[in-house]
Amino acid sequence: MLADKVALVTGASRGIGSEIAKTFAREGACVIVNYNGSKERAEAVAQEINAACGSGSAVTYGCNVADFAACEEMIKEIIKQFGHIDILVNNAGITRDGLVMKMSEEDFDRVIETNLKGAFHTIRHTSRYFLKQRAGRIINISSVSGIMGNAGQANYSASKAGVIGLTKSVARELASRGVTCNAIAPGFITTDMTDAMTDAAKEAVTAQIPLGRVGNVADIAEMAAFLASERAAYITGQVIAVDGGMSM
Ligand code: NAP
Repeated sequence: MLADKVALVTGASRGIGSEIAKTFAREGACVIVNYNGSKERAEAVAQEINAACGSGSAVTYGCNVADFAACEEMIKEIIKQFGHIDILVNNAGITRDGLVMKMSEEDFDRVIETNLKGAFHTIRHTSRYFLKQRAGRIINISSVSGIMGNAGQANYSASKAGVIGLTKSVARELASRGVTCNAIAPGFITTDMTDAMTDAAKEAVTAQIPLGRVGNVADIAEMAAFLASERAAYITGQVIAVDGGMSM
């Protein structure tokens, strides 16, 4: 259970992030629903949480995670408002797919800046509070693409492999103060991010999943809730694939 915990979930206006926010709130957490462009959708997520009868609650905070100074401001504001932060989920992510020989520098940089540097920015600004509290949970959303690579996703796979290196290094740095840092590597999960794929491409991916189905957002949110809880106190520096067996 996450009663009285303050949790920041980046990119929680849609998809996996919004389900993580709702799941944490169901377990009693106060959730900061971060978004970049989708203000109305983030507000709808927070409203749904606040209207539910559980003990959890939510507020929204717009901030581009690729902006170092804006992330610092967001964390300071959370501390000012709530007095502490207990759980950080780095979920915000984008794709700019294309073959490497045709990929623009801008498409490479934007994906790295959001997916990898974004996670660094929030960890950089929350870790001092986690260290002082001698407690904290960091959960980074990586991808099976960061483990296996994926044709057409050199930028994305590099960012997600980077997240794995970041996770393990941060886990080693913060472990002595009881702070854990783990990564979840989702497989193919139905969200806006994967909706753009053709039916044929989706069928081809599904054929590679031993459990025979694509994942849903709850599959990832359940793992995030576990890693955020006391039940996962002895787990750090791990990459947990939630992918129907795709990457084994
Ligand atoms: P999604 O539906 O496209 O949602 C992405 C979320 O990230 C949105 O809430 C978006 O907010 C937010 N975001 C994007 N850029 C941001 C920025 N610069 N600052 C703050 N927020 C930003 O994606 P999803 O499928 O739920 O993916 C969530 C995470 O899981 C990503 O890290 C993704 O790489 C990872 N993942 C997904 C899959 C999959 O199959 N879906 C598989 C493996 C890993 P706005 O709308 O407000 O911009």
